Amino acid sequence: MVKETAYYDVLGVKPSATPEELKKAYRKLALKYHPDKNPNEGEKFKQISQAYEVLSDAEKRQIYDEGGEQAIKKGGNDGGGFRSPMDLFEMFFSGSGFGGGGRRGGRRGRDVIHQMSVTLEELYNGAVRKLALQKSVICDKCEGRGGKKGSVENCQSCRGLGVEKRIQQIAPGMVQQIESICRKCAGQGVIIPEKDRCKQCNGKKTVRDRKILEVNIEKGMRDGQKIVFSGEGDQEPELQPGDIVIVLDEKEHSTFARGGYDLIMKMPIQLVESLCGFQKVIKTLDNRDLVITSMPGEVIKNDQAKCIMNEGMPIHKNPFEKGRLIIQFNVIFPDSIPAATIPQLESCLPPRPVVNIPIDAEECTLEDFDPSHDSRRQSYRPAYDEDGDCHHGPKIQQCATS
Ligand SMILES: [Zn+2]
Ligand SMILES: [Zn+2]
Repeated sequence: MVKETAYYDVLGVKPSATPEELKKAYRKLALKYHPDKNPNEGEKFKQISQAYEVLSDAEKRQIYDEGGEQAIKKGGNDGGGFRSPMDLFEMFFSGSGFGGGGRRGGRRGRDVIHQMSVTLEELYNGAVRKLALQKSVICDKCEGRGGKKGSVENCQSCRGLGVEKRIQQIAPGMVQQIESICRKCAGQGVIIPEKDRCKQCNGKKTVRDRKILEVNIEKGMRDGQKIVFSGEGDQEPELQPGDIVIVLDEKEHSTFARGGYDLIMKMPIQLVESLCGFQKVIKTLDNRDLVITSMPGEVIKNDQAKCIMNEGMPIHKNPFEKGRLIIQFNVIFPDSIPAATIPQLESCLPPRPVVNIPIDAEECTLEDFDPSHDSRRQSYRPAYDEDGDCHHGPKIQQCATS
């Protein structure tokens, strides 16, 4: 038992969640509540980040499970031991490890992260998806200068400092110096005279452009896998552009679940099929029909699993190799059978064990068990009649449970 569940609740997972489930929960929520997409949910974004930071670290998770948030905060530096939510987000998503760093030397712009919903069929067969997005590009007309060559001049208003200083008298004999960003040059320290300004970007040096990315979903890719378009992020003068990172989000499938490269499906079969054999047809993710036939005389038990080799998911980068298709059988029992057929049926089955009933055994009624029923209420009912006999319910058939 864990002491508190608040961190699990924030991520919407059970305390028994696997590291994979935690990762997926963080991924979905962090993308949803990122300030770029949801500027008013900063607090929620921070909570998600802190919860994931703790739960994704086996050691910290154990401390939290045992001692709750209190124990975590005691362990950190006065409770300030959390990473910034933005840093965690970048570490988690960036194709380059740490975004904004100097991977290729020089300063880099931010990475742009998009989530793309994909079907299991697309991950099985591979697909090319087009993604349209807006991005900033360096203005080609002025080559990112914002105006005519040599037209850039120091801002007169702030003398190139980018800030304006004003002396203000706040009381007789008392003055205060107020600093503010220069309005004339917007803090740039330089301006381009109106007449020389680039008409295309209006002196801003970049323009918005619609870009179509072709996202190549390769056979066997996984949920959460990143496809990185290096250097395709927003362009800004004097900055290395960041990356566009596409994060795949696998949609749930109506038939198959995925376990690594294995595909798992549930198959209900009738009792007659489990005892007397069956044939079934399975539609694959690339629309082929597979026929499976049980071995004559073999009994398929409830919850038994069988598999078909090489009919699971293709291995990424080696798609001719595939995982297994695992079939979990669910045997559907009839609610009753005609009493007259019982001897006939019995003659085909292994013999029932002999039960010796002691002479003073008490006869009881078997009722349907309802786990949601409050067991304490049972105790109000007298268990015995005054004469100490068991309740006389309908006489039950003595039936060996096997
Ligand atoms: Zn321009
Ligand atoms: Zn200025």
